[in-house]
Amino acid sequence: MSAKKVVIITGGSRGIGAEAAKLFARNGYAVCINYVRNVMAAKKVQQDILDMGGECIIVQADVSKADEVEFLFQAVDNTWGSLSVLVNNAGILKTQTRFEGISAERFMDVMRTNVLSCFLCSQQAIKRMSYRCDGRGGAIINISSKAAQTGSPNEYVDYAASKGAMDSMTRGLAMEVAAEGIRVNGVRPGLIYTEMHAAGGEAERVDRLKSKIPMQRGGEASEVAEAIVWLASEKSSFVTGTFIDTSGGL
Ligand code: NDP
Repeated sequence: MSAKKVVIITGGSRGIGAEAAKLFARNGYAVCINYVRNVMAAKKVQQDILDMGGECIIVQADVSKADEVEFLFQAVDNTWGSLSVLVNNAGILKTQTRFEGISAERFMDVMRTNVLSCFLCSQQAIKRMSYRCDGRGGAIINISSKAAQTGSPNEYVDYAASKGAMDSMTRGLAMEVAAEGIRVNGVRPGLIYTEMHAAGGEAERVDRLKSKIPMQRGGEASEVAEAIVWLASEKSSFVTGTFIDTSGGL
């Protein structure tokens, strides 16, 4: 069993997940970076962590599929034999579309990637973290979105609904496993400059969103990473079932 704390970050190859992976490594964690397609990006984050003297593996797995999630967690079992933190970060956002233009296939794709993945990974994590199973307690951090509260009308009602489901799971699961030493919290980013954001909207939309943000700017992935690592740490030892907004006051 590793003496280090071990963290799995789903979708750790790019954006918010990649920044969180590097910050966890700087804080002494052994890091498992999950990705689905972009192996070069995952390898780059891994190299950054190795260069700073950290421990890191990368594991390809589509976290919306149960067998691949099992493979991901087994890779961590085989490497370190313990798990302290899970960050459910992998997510997708499709193009802006009015509600009636969202196909059932698209809806299910978003739900599988954003919600089913959170369910499947959390189940695997809890088996390893629960005191009842001789685990050492742990923390789960779900990367939601301000969209869970706004509903994102005329744009991505499917995406917002997926994040709303994630929030509900965060609260329910937190209460269910609190006595087992596991804390479950969420982070709700607003507009963050990543590839997802670039794919989801063009310059005009960014300007429109920015004008609604009290701090009058978008955020950096590193600013979200700080909240994630804090929620994983002992510094938040009495915090569970709640959310940190990283949204510039939105
Ligand atoms: P990016 O698009 O930059 O990165 C997405 C990551 O998820 C990539 O690492 C990608 O892997 C991975 N991924 C996607 N699908 C799967 C899958 N099926 N299995 C495993 N990994 C997968 O996203 P962001 O960093 O912007 O977003 C991270 C999280 O933050 C998401 O949950 C998003 O909804 C949320 N968020 C982002 C906001 C923003 O403005 N950016 C705002 C609010 C919330 P690969 O590289 O292999 O493709």
